[in-house]
Amino acid sequence: MEVRMVAEREHVVIVGAGFAGLQAARDLAGKPLDVTVVDRHDYHLFQPLLYQVATGKLEPQTAAYALRRIIRKMPNVNFRMAEATGVDLEEQLVEVSDGPPLRYDHLILAVGATTNTLGIEGVREHCYPMKTLEDAERMRDHILACFEHVSAHPQARDIEASLTFVIVGGGPTGVELAGALADLIRDVLDEDFPELAMEDITVLLVEALPHVLSPFEEKNRDYARRSLEDRGIQVRLETALESVSEGHVHLPDDEVIRTETILWTAGVRAQPLADRLGLKQVGNGQILVDDDLSVPEHPNVWVAGDLAGATDPDGDPYPQLAPVAMQQGSHVVRQIAKRRRGEPTEPFQYTDKGIMATLGRGSGIAELPIGPSIRGRLAWFAWLGAHVGFLVGVRNRLLTVINWVYAHFFRQRAARMIIRGSEAPRATPAEDVESD
Ligand SMILES: Cc1cc2nc3c(=O)[nH]c(=O)nc-3n(C[C@H](O)[C@H](O)[C@H](O)COP(=O)(O)OP(=O)(O)OC[C@H]3O[C@@H](n4cnc5c(N)ncnc54)[C@H](O)[C@@H]3O)c2cc1C
Repeated sequence: MEVRMVAEREHVVIVGAGFAGLQAARDLAGKPLDVTVVDRHDYHLFQPLLYQVATGKLEPQTAAYALRRIIRKMPNVNFRMAEATGVDLEEQLVEVSDGPPLRYDHLILAVGATTNTLGIEGVREHCYPMKTLEDAERMRDHILACFEHVSAHPQARDIEASLTFVIVGGGPTGVELAGALADLIRDVLDEDFPELAMEDITVLLVEALPHVLSPFEEKNRDYARRSLEDRGIQVRLETALESVSEGHVHLPDDEVIRTETILWTAGVRAQPLADRLGLKQVGNGQILVDDDLSVPEHPNVWVAGDLAGATDPDGDPYPQLAPVAMQQGSHVVRQIAKRRRGEPTEPFQYTDKGIMATLGRGSGIAELPIGPSIRGRLAWFAWLGAHVGFLVGVRNRLLTVINWVYAHFFRQRAARMIIRGSEAPRATPAEDVESD
């Protein structure tokens, strides 16, 4: 009998198939290594479009793509749908909720971030977060259900609370959500609910800082605030939320706003897995990494994306953005190759792709790496183009464009439907952690 010795190939486990993990898997495809991608969902989620799901512009499936469909084209890559529950760093094992643990030679941790309640009382119980597809669907259903409720009970005392929508957080996510919500109300719900007076509806954006859109230049922040106000959105700056109780937002100076809808976009922190690894954490729970993105004292463990506590050459944390995550995913794969060849690794350096935000239909801001920033319709088109370009799958791209055209020209929303029912809020943040 012929016995053939087959050299066992090294095994890379990637935990998390978001922007960073999926990019790493793509870069490892076809390499002489075995790769297993672990994710608790069987789809890759395009988070930048979540606010469009939450406001009925896009169907949830358009912002997601089946992971097995992507991975089946990569012969050396396998997929395991499971929650990673821990890592045994000594034995080099990833523990998962479903199935035996996975042994690794190289581990890439890329589980991203989750909602952060910032320790504010009542946020967990009463606010609607927007970090997952389920969150966005729940938000959409609740917003639409508020209108149905007022239509069914026009004499009720709580009309003001039902038609007051408070968005907490004036970063890009909160600003984009506010603009899209104002559009939904003006373009669609105004006509769908002729019995309601639009003057009774309030969209309020609350931000603790003296400006919205922190990452942008000052002139663009002012432009954004004015654009939102022109759309009828009330913008409250330098207003730190004190607490939330059922039906109420509590602001400084004992000010209380009656509302049934508090949309929470104010904070993110590392996924709970980060707290279970016994590794040093920084910032909002991210794992401390060396400048090559490996974990100190664990040279075969790498962290990429929102989970990575990496800093730029000036010592500032990298922004939590999809391009940063993708570039870090690629960087880690290159460093694994260097380690295997016995070469020294290189520090991660981000190539800035610019930042963009929409402010509602036909309006946006884009600060590109070169040239002056652009605003208004041109920036909005740039945003559309960039996001369609990054979406996974031809079908998703086509559907997205069709839905945008439909919304823009016909003032309709393809997915303005209550599908899951109107559930109570359910934030899914982990406990807030102490970190340095
Ligand atoms: C509403 C919203 C809008 C945004 N808009 C923009 C934008 O316009 N432009 C931009 O550049 N960035 C935007 N971002 C930020 C961007 O989406 C993130 O920076 C990016 O997703 C980070 O990529 P990642 O791979 O680190 O994590 P993610 O993309 O979050 O992927 C993490 C993956 O890990 C999986 N996972 C988590 N925990 C586990 C576990 N324990 N076990 C197994 N799997 C797990 C998740 O299911 C997920 O697939 C936005 C984010 C949000 C929430």
